Amino acid sequence: MLARLVRDLIPAAKCSVSLSNALKSLCHPLAVAPGASRVDLGTVYSGLVAPCLTARTSILVSEAAPNDSFWTVSVKFHDHSNLVIPDYFTGLGYLLSLQAYGPLSLLERIRLLAMYAKVCKLSSPLVQSRPPTTVQLLWVNSPHVTDTRIVLGSSLAWLKVRNHFQMARAVREQILRDLWRDALVDPTPMQVCFPNPVGALFGSCWGDCAEAISLSAFWELVASGTPLGTLALNVAAMNAVDLLTGLSACDVILAGNLSLQETLGVLVRANAFRPMCKNCEHLCDRVAADIVDCACAEFWLKRGLFSAPGPQTVLARA
Ligand SMILES: [Zn+2]
Repeated sequence: MLARLVRDLIPAAKCSVSLSNALKSLCHPLAVAPGASRVDLGTVYSGLVAPCLTARTSILVSEAAPNDSFWTVSVKFHDHSNLVIPDYFTGLGYLLSLQAYGPLSLLERIRLLAMYAKVCKLSSPLVQSRPPTTVQLLWVNSPHVTDTRIVLGSSLAWLKVRNHFQMARAVREQILRDLWRDALVDPTPMQVCFPNPVGALFGSCWGDCAEAISLSAFWELVASGTPLGTLALNVAAMNAVDLLTGLSACDVILAGNLSLQETLGVLVRANAFRPMCKNCEHLCDRVAADIVDCACAEFWLKRGLFSAPGPQTVLARA
């Protein structure tokens, strides 16, 4: 399934029509994960993703009121019965999340995330947007649970019209507030950490992170303290061409012939790991979520895949 998706989606992502056709095939009954709704996939495809590709925009702004109104779709996404999907990249993550992958190894999860990063990057000109900064994968991480569901989410990509960006952010923030109003603080922990010298707050707002979507889609698992795993990768770093090899980290990983340890080396060399931000750490602490972050060196050290002496600094320096 994953190899076929890589083979079909990556070449298609250079043209709106071919990508739209390839994404339509993700709604086919044989492609959709057990338990997922084909109708909901069709809603995200026909109501958001395909129109975005046709209109060359990452959100569907109302022609009647372009400054304060845009079109979203609302669908069941795992635990969330009515999650609002506001933008193309989130819709893309939704379609890719609900494919019939079956159980995925950690290496396969990294490949899937690399594919999402690559399709985001390739298709961003098609929707006249920057790609999102980060893509993230969230999964059930317990040997006692046979739940193979996953969520792929992206950070909110910057939109040329500032008001459009803020409208899309407000939708994502509201999803979090509806679930965890008491846990969300203002200013956010990231804004407290990164204010600018003249007083405006520059750190991330609620809703910016990929986790706004993924944690919300798995909110029952989060609330019940079910062990989850997360991995976030930087889209630009994953797609940057390595001067030595002439290939990006995405290209190397998606070729599909590296071991887990070799893949780790590629990600470290590309400086692609993005550990959870302070907003997400705060939210996870407040709601007692049990989430292992695979973008931290400790995760790899515990598995014997890293032998460097300074675990806290290895990934940052690489
Ligand atoms: Zn975050």
